[in-house]
Amino acid sequence: MARTDLRHPAGAPGPWFVDDRCIDCDAARQVAPGLIARNPGDGVSVFTRQPTTDDEVAMAWRAVLVCPTRSVGHETIRQPPPGVYPHHLGDGVHRLGHNARDSFGAHSYLVVRPGGNLLVDAPRWTQQLLGPIADLGGVDHLLLTHRDDVADADRYAERFGARVWIHEDDRAAAPYATDLVRGTDEVEVVPGVVGFPVPGHTRGSVLWHVDGRLLFSGDSLSWSPRQERLTAFRDACWYSWDAQTASLDRFARSGHRFDRLFCGHGWSHDAPAEVFHDHLVDLVARMPDRR
Ligand code: SF4
Repeated sequence: MARTDLRHPAGAPGPWFVDDRCIDCDAARQVAPGLIARNPGDGVSVFTRQPTTDDEVAMAWRAVLVCPTRSVGHETIRQPPPGVYPHHLGDGVHRLGHNARDSFGAHSYLVVRPGGNLLVDAPRWTQQLLGPIADLGGVDHLLLTHRDDVADADRYAERFGARVWIHEDDRAAAPYATDLVRGTDEVEVVPGVVGFPVPGHTRGSVLWHVDGRLLFSGDSLSWSPRQERLTAFRDACWYSWDAQTASLDRFARSGHRFDRLFCGHGWSHDAPAEVFHDHLVDLVARMPDRR
């Protein structure tokens, strides 16, 4: 619960606030754009204005329940309304919120599909999600993008009887995994669900490509709204930038296309497939300059 005694003084006057335990993970800003922004003074999040419409209040509640440090809140209404998460983003993709601090606030997603539901990375464990996930059909396959964003995957997998997929090189983060992605070979989980290894951010990073158009990129690829182009995190590349460059180049040449990008960290985005492809080719061309 956000602490009123730690309310950040730079926030807009009013009942909604962010406390100063914020770790600058960016998640709240992504679910409440236009309401919550990075404070130039110290880089943490603040409300730039108070929500005024029902839609904006809903965004503020999503920020409350996405925050890994529980830093976002309302001065007097301490109990969120029901149904904040899962948040349907279209095409069966639901953001789950409840981001975990030990994955530095990474997003996770439930994908509801006729061929079996997918959970891409995992939120922190909360009873609040169990009923809604069950109502949406549970989880058949839990797909981990890399070692950092595992959170409480083990508990969700056990609760829903899901198979767990991770790359063998990041397996230490999920020793309970039932299925391994190996080397740089693509793997088909079920028809329409492909794991594409992209060593770089970590040695065992994987892109999960769904139904020929949805891409779950973990921390390997994201959208920069400021630059209006795809980006990758040079300063948060733990294994090899050269390998990440080569991996994204291999994906660009693979023939896989996507028109919806869902990230662990960074901003998700929609664009026509050929536009995304051109952005990806451009990103790969720029990456060597950032060695
Ligand atoms: S989600 Fe929480 S910790 Fe992350 S930037 Fe927003 S307020 Fe800060």
